Amino acid sequence: MRKYVIMGVQGSGKGTQSAMLANDFDLVHIAVGDIFRWNVLHHTKLGAQVRRTMAAGELVSDDLAEGVVKDRLTQHDWNYGFIIDGFPRNERQAEFFLESYDIDGVIYLDLPDSEVRRRVLARRLCSGCGMDYNLIDSSPREEGRCDVCGARLIQREDDTEEALAVRLREYHTKTNPVLDIFRRKEYVVTVDARADKDDVQAAIRKALQLPPYDG
Ligand code: AMP
Repeated sequence: MRKYVIMGVQGSGKGTQSAMLANDFDLVHIAVGDIFRWNVLHHTKLGAQVRRTMAAGELVSDDLAEGVVKDRLTQHDWNYGFIIDGFPRNERQAEFFLESYDIDGVIYLDLPDSEVRRRVLARRLCSGCGMDYNLIDSSPREEGRCDVCGARLIQREDDTEEALAVRLREYHTKTNPVLDIFRRKEYVVTVDARADKDDVQAAIRKALQLPPYDG
């Protein structure tokens, strides 16, 4: 059983790297932001509760975020383990998490803010299946259309200059202390996230002493 948390600023590749790990090691990938976005898209009660906060780039309440993680983990479909992406985001969530679950490692994807801006503003999302694109290095074959399902590509509501500025501020003030908590427990491996996605994946596996990545 392997249990990981992946952390890093917006656009550092958490979703991509988690999916690559989850795929090869049969881990359940729990992306808290994706769960919230799914709820917004499907007009659920939870979606209505978080929509405005998310669009502004602010963190939603700890109770809601903790509830999502708890609900997901109580499904117990993670026989080989899990990788959590987007949680914990502040000290309270970190304490909740450490009291409730044990983990094997925390992957920290390190990316300078200047690169974050460039990546996030180029990010696109399929309105049908949720597939991620980036106009810098993973453009769709047909402009504005998903390669997988053909639906329209959209920009995330919070991938704007204004919301990004708020999210970066939130990140540095609230999420950095979480890293310090995990560092004190010697869980953290830091990986330079500027490299291309295969090299970042290879570096993660090396740092976690997992079987090497062979593309
Ligand atoms: P992400 O996809 O991880 O960038 O998350 C998108 C948005 O979802 C964030 O800007 C927050 O509004 C909300 N969100 C995701 N995870 C959390 C969390 N752990 N705590 C509070 N809000 C969260």
